Amino acid sequence: MLYESVLDELVEHRDLSDEALATLLSCNDGEVEEELHSRAREFAVSRFGHEVYLRGLVEWSNVCRNDCLYCGIRRSNPGVSRYTLTKEEILSCAERIYDEGIRTIVLQSGENPSSALSLAGVVSEIKSSWPDVAVTLGLGELPFSTYATLRSDGADRFLLRHETANPSHYARLHPAGMSLEHRLECLSELRRLGFQTGMGMMVGSPYQSVCDLVADIRLIQSFRPEMIGIGPFVPQKDTPFGSFPPGSPVLTLKLYSILRIMLPNALIPSTTALATVLQGGCSRGILAGANVVMPYFTPAAQREAYHLYDNKSSGQLSAIKQELASIGYRANLSRGDYQAE
Ligand code: SAH
Repeated sequence: MLYESVLDELVEHRDLSDEALATLLSCNDGEVEEELHSRAREFAVSRFGHEVYLRGLVEWSNVCRNDCLYCGIRRSNPGVSRYTLTKEEILSCAERIYDEGIRTIVLQSGENPSSALSLAGVVSEIKSSWPDVAVTLGLGELPFSTYATLRSDGADRFLLRHETANPSHYARLHPAGMSLEHRLECLSELRRLGFQTGMGMMVGSPYQSVCDLVADIRLIQSFRPEMIGIGPFVPQKDTPFGSFPPGSPVLTLKLYSILRIMLPNALIPSTTALATVLQGGCSRGILAGANVVMPYFTPAAQREAYHLYDNKSSGQLSAIKQELASIGYRANLSRGDYQAE
């Protein structure tokens, strides 16, 4: 196979030139993809076995001050019925997660600085009720003092995707006033505060080029995040990007594999967005080198309203466990912290 030497080089040096990366990302050959996934899987299996970490996800509020052009819960989408779970409701979701045996609770929401600050009390209550759980947050860009409060109240990890490493592409995806530069400052601050930090991008977002994806890989290689969140762009009809095509699942899977080889210990979820655009996407992601899945524990009444994009995959715990079993993998319910090499 023509690409054999490129894959050998990737595995041996855990790196590739820009040109080789662009060629690998653009090539359209099922055999190459299979071989790439199989090499990545070896890296994952040698570290994690045939096991996948589960994280219990609670989308605790869809109130958002921000206006990202791709996102269904953006401020200027009037069709969203807005909710914020009470402290008691969040704690009861946390309890359900704990009772399933899952030891990471992920609290995600729109960007809302005042309720994010009040979430600190919920985080400390979760940590005192269940000292053996890890709390991961995904709350967007917040004042650094709020990040510090959340950290000192016990939050362990923070996910903040950079979305694209090209500043001018970033500007086309976000409203005026937001910048890649500030997003990266947030990521550095989160790391400085001692959070295990997650970054990542959408694949196939409007105006994205293969060059942009190479830049994403370079940024991830230099920041070396503990977690890498990557999913295909999925259009949401009430947003300015509602009529753009979805991102490619094949390209998403290739990126899982390349990044698994480059950063073998990273926590890489097989994302809901991937499962939304690809039948069996959850297991396909795992077979490409991902090692995390995030089933939903958002109450059914609110799930529909947390509508980042259309036709969102169901993400149910039982279905995920079944899908993992069908490919010979098991759920690992432990905290699953990042382990340095
Ligand atoms: N407000 C928080 C968390 C919610 S958005 C934050 O900004 O981090 C979480 C992620 O969902 C975003 O980082 C983005 O990459 C992804 N997302 C949003 N809209 C999407 C869409 N239309 N298609 C695919 N992914 C999307």
